[in-house]
Amino acid sequence: MHKDASLTLGESSAPPRPDIQSALFLDVDGTLLEIAARPELVLVPKDLPAQLARLSVQREGALALISGRPLAQLDRLFQPWRGAAAGLHGLERRRADGVVDRVLDRNSAMALERLRPKLAALAASESGLRLEDKGGTLALHYRAVPHREAEIRALAEALRRDAGSVLRLIPGKMVVEFQPRSANKGQAIAAFLAEPPFTGRRPVFIGDDTTDEDGFVEIRRRGGIGIRVGLPCPTAAGYCLPNVTAVLAWLARSGLP
Ligand SMILES: [Mg+2]
Repeated sequence: MHKDASLTLGESSAPPRPDIQSALFLDVDGTLLEIAARPELVLVPKDLPAQLARLSVQREGALALISGRPLAQLDRLFQPWRGAAAGLHGLERRRADGVVDRVLDRNSAMALERLRPKLAALAASESGLRLEDKGGTLALHYRAVPHREAEIRALAEALRRDAGSVLRLIPGKMVVEFQPRSANKGQAIAAFLAEPPFTGRRPVFIGDDTTDEDGFVEIRRRGGIGIRVGLPCPTAAGYCLPNVTAVLAWLARSGLP
């Protein structure tokens, strides 16, 4: 199979044991949590918030969630833990000192404003579609009608073209998401690494989906460790783990002799 310099296949080896000197960046759905039929139905293992707190303390706070969910949802899911986190693929970012940066630019906000009613009308006309309005991004879920994937993606791409170049369309697992080009997971990781306590640490990023590839590219550029979760697929990550259970088991080894 063809392999170019920027692309590896995620069938490579399991990652080395977690290092407490690293900066840890973690996607949420499909990485720390099993994907549910709807985003609000995910189950958080009882001990996971305490586990995140432990991993963060081991690294003097150099742990951040890097998710497509809004920060408010991440805080609800992982309460009482409330550490560094990027929400909406980096449009919202809470630094380790608790300060929140929001980076939605005016052109992107206006493009989303124009797109919102069109997507709402599309979702209302088809029983299997559901629009998730995250404010800074718009996600169209089609988990109930997976056989129509090609048609829905083509419709979404046409809407994206109408919306202009400030938005990009990210295909995910049974979802397409319209996102401002001004933010992505790679930029969020870079922003954290420019600040204490992340600066100077070797970055590790674990993710499972298309939007995580921006993060893997950034990690690769910095000589860090990228870990893609799931079946082997084209990825910029150098390592893979098969599923959420394996991720949690790998993280649990952090700090052990
Ligand atoms: Mg994910």
